[in-house]
Amino acid sequence: MPTRYPPRMAASQPMHEKSGIPRNPGRHDLGMKATLLFPSREIVERFYVPLIYTACRTCYSELEPAEIFRRAEAGQIDRAKMQKLISGVIESGHGSTIEHVVFTFGISGVSRTLSHQLVRHRAGVAFDQQSQRYVKFTGAATMLPATLAEADPELRARYEAQVDGALDLYGELLAAGIPGEDARFVFPNATRTNLVMTANLRALIHMSGLRLCTMAQWEIRRLFQLIRHEVFAVSPFLGSFLAPKCVPLGYCDEMGNRDEHCPIRPHRDSVLGAWAEKAKAARAGGRDLTVVDG
Ligand SMILES: Cc1cc2nc3c(=O)[nH]c(=O)nc-3n(C[C@H](O)[C@H](O)[C@H](O)COP(=O)(O)OP(=O)(O)OC[C@H]3O[C@@H](n4cnc5c(N)ncnc54)[C@H](O)[C@@H]3O)c2cc1C
Repeated sequence: MPTRYPPRMAASQPMHEKSGIPRNPGRHDLGMKATLLFPSREIVERFYVPLIYTACRTCYSELEPAEIFRRAEAGQIDRAKMQKLISGVIESGHGSTIEHVVFTFGISGVSRTLSHQLVRHRAGVAFDQQSQRYVKFTGAATMLPATLAEADPELRARYEAQVDGALDLYGELLAAGIPGEDARFVFPNATRTNLVMTANLRALIHMSGLRLCTMAQWEIRRLFQLIRHEVFAVSPFLGSFLAPKCVPLGYCDEMGNRDEHCPIRPHRDSVLGAWAEKAKAARAGGRDLTVVDG
């Protein structure tokens, strides 16, 4: 009987110590791409900020939206003023204002492991994915995780033999007349795939908040680093909103980071603990921090 690898951990064995934030997957070339297909820099500069500004400003103005947009697009409104209003509205969580602009990415060479996570996002995002029914994968490619690339050579060889064996069998099944939609059942999660993804800015900020977090899986984290890079290239202002969720929150809310092995922001427990200490000290001094002066 083949050895199970890695061996199952006995109940008495200690869990892995968390020693630091996961290595930045961006250091490895994973062979994946995220290309911003739309909009171009010119379109973003000319329309996107004026459009979001119009959505924000309409809420507080007697002017008709068409007039606000005309003035904004014609350069009659100071760009810094537009950005200030937009930043304030985004930071206040009034997200509908940024649903009016979308970004479309061509994503290629990612694993099915990644795509399965990606398509879990539902609100404000659309996907189209390369079909494993209609495409004959004559040269199917796979993603090799860094831990396996750097693993014991014998272990890596066994992994590669398993993956290659699955792909060889796929080819044999097709050659034997098994339809692609059934032959694909043998594909490993490592199989690479391509997608087109369109997300409005609100959805993109939300997804980036989750997927740029160091708790996210390394491959999808790398994808969102590439996505952030693409948005930055057309708009450093809009790109600056794509950040791990702890950055706008000011604290980490991931239960898996209660030990604060990721140092980007303090954990919520620490923040609440510090507040409790402060409130206790204030009470000891005869003040109550929970009372807000009217
Ligand atoms: C680190 C990490 C680990 C994960 N682990 C697992 C796992 O082990 N197993 C697993 O199954 N999934 C897992 N997920 C996936 C996760 O549970 C979500 O399904 C995924 O991140 C999509 O995010 P979302 O729910 O915010 O959806 P989105 O579609 O991106 O929605 C955006 C927001 O819109 C709102 N919204 C969307 N749809 C609805 C709705 N129907 N009703 C009300 N409000 C809605 C919510 O506020 C939501 O946050 C993991 C995700 C991360 C980031």
